[in-house]
Amino acid sequence: MRTTLRCPKCNFHEIISLASIPDRVGDAGSYTKPVALGQQAKEVLWGLGTAFERTHLVQACICRRCGYMEHYIDSPETLDVSKIAGAKILVGEPDAFR
Ligand SMILES: [Zn+2]
Repeated sequence: MRTTLRCPKCNFHEIISLASIPDRVGDAGSYTKPVALGQQAKEVLWGLGTAFERTHLVQACICRRCGYMEHYIDSPETLDVSKIAGAKILVGEPDAFR
């Protein structure tokens, strides 16, 4: 969708591109930060907790007709999968889907 500029669900050709997504829309006085993927930075207090760092901004494309939304992160090749609980790399056939 990001490269084809075509919605995979309804085939519409107008796509809204969001370079970042605010994680909260709220009352006056509230603040927002862009949604980001957090990687485990370090354990804190002798294993009693975990600190996370926001490393990769979440970006999105939204179909202007049906509202279908796809999410992306910036610089996925630099993501340290070992620092994200439950994350693993699945490898398919090269260029099987594009
Ligand atoms: Zn659509």
